[in-house]
Amino acid sequence: MKINTKCVQSGYEPQNGEPRVVPVSMSTTFKYDSTQTVGDLFDLKADGFFYTRLANPTTAAVEKKIADLEGGTAAMLTSSGQAATTLSVLNLASSGDKIVSSSEIYGGTYNLFNVTLKRMGIDCIFVDPDDTYGLEKAVKTKGVRAVFGETLANPALKVLDIEKWAKVAHGANVPLIVDNTFATPVLCRPFEFGADIVIHSTSKYMDGHAVSLGGVIVDGGRFDYKKGGFKQFTEPDESYHGVVYTESFKDAPFVTKARVQLMRDLGSMISPMNAFLLNLGLETLHLRMPRHSENALEVAEFLKKDKRILSVSYPGLQTDGQHAKCKKYMNGSGSGVISFDVGDKEKAARLMDSLQLAKIVVHVADARTGVLHPASSTHRQLSDRELAEAGIKPGMIRLSCGIEDKADIIADLKQALDNM
Ligand SMILES: *Cc1c(COP(=O)(O)O)cnc(C)c1O
Repeated sequence: MKINTKCVQSGYEPQNGEPRVVPVSMSTTFKYDSTQTVGDLFDLKADGFFYTRLANPTTAAVEKKIADLEGGTAAMLTSSGQAATTLSVLNLASSGDKIVSSSEIYGGTYNLFNVTLKRMGIDCIFVDPDDTYGLEKAVKTKGVRAVFGETLANPALKVLDIEKWAKVAHGANVPLIVDNTFATPVLCRPFEFGADIVIHSTSKYMDGHAVSLGGVIVDGGRFDYKKGGFKQFTEPDESYHGVVYTESFKDAPFVTKARVQLMRDLGSMISPMNAFLLNLGLETLHLRMPRHSENALEVAEFLKKDKRILSVSYPGLQTDGQHAKCKKYMNGSGSGVISFDVGDKEKAARLMDSLQLAKIVVHVADARTGVLHPASSTHRQLSDRELAEAGIKPGMIRLSCGIEDKADIIADLKQALDNM
């Protein structure tokens, strides 16, 4: 099936007389007729549900859909994008190990890698995504267990050269994790370019309506854990009845281990209600992503022509430095987020306070157009010098184009620019 059909149909196939729409199974637990059946479930010999922290029918249907959309073998939903990132790294690296990450990543991920995982004994080597030599050198460092990057970096709007990153990671027998939140599988499927694990904050475009937090980890099913010496996959897990993930779950050892070991112990499962809401969002993802991209392109072109604006970043613009990679990895569609610089904080505030359709929100990637001023919100604690170091200009505004009529978004920007 084509991706448009998968968005609508994948993951749930009702039997005779069953609900047409995947039901919300708001139940923490499930009932069985015999102790033997429950024993088989615990031994992973039978498929089924026993406790919603590990698996739930609603959640499972949505996981199946997302695995299908990404072209992966299995997926596991989590309570947030942060939980997905955390579990994907902890599934590979332990205290004393290292990871390598692109320096152009989401701020929350940066803090996780730079502060919290570091405190847990996992060090992160950050590299400029375009510095091939730096990447090769970092990946060869002793103890590196994972390489991490974002397809379309939030907020830098840089496109990751996934093919190159996968090649370098595989040269050292280390898997590549790609955060595909901003592109979504509609615009890019990182497995097709060599990624091994894909993660998302489903709170963004996948949900698409700013109603539910969530995250997901998708297993590409191809990485050779034996070759990389990942004993936690290739030797018996004594904490789970001696299961060997690469033998009993050849297709999806990564997600199986993340579920039965890490989700069991750390417990950051999505709620079935949130999984249900996420599924409603996914049913129109293939309609929304082209519309977000089309609107953002026209808005970016409009902003670029305005003399009062110093610079515009949007990978969908032909003149943007990221456009060649955007063509290769995202079919030339730039997704919905634009950043532009009006010069200083005061102008940025006047422009944003004058906007009417576009609302000030600390969020991106939903159906409604929103704006964010990093220097006075998400990066407020930084001095002007620190802002410069983080690549954030005081007058920079992040605009998340919704799926309204683009003429209305542009008219709103026009009147706000006149008030600036
Ligand atoms: C928002 C975001 C996250 C974190 O996701 P939450 O659902 O907010 O925890 C991770 N990566 C990217 C690229 C994001 O935009």
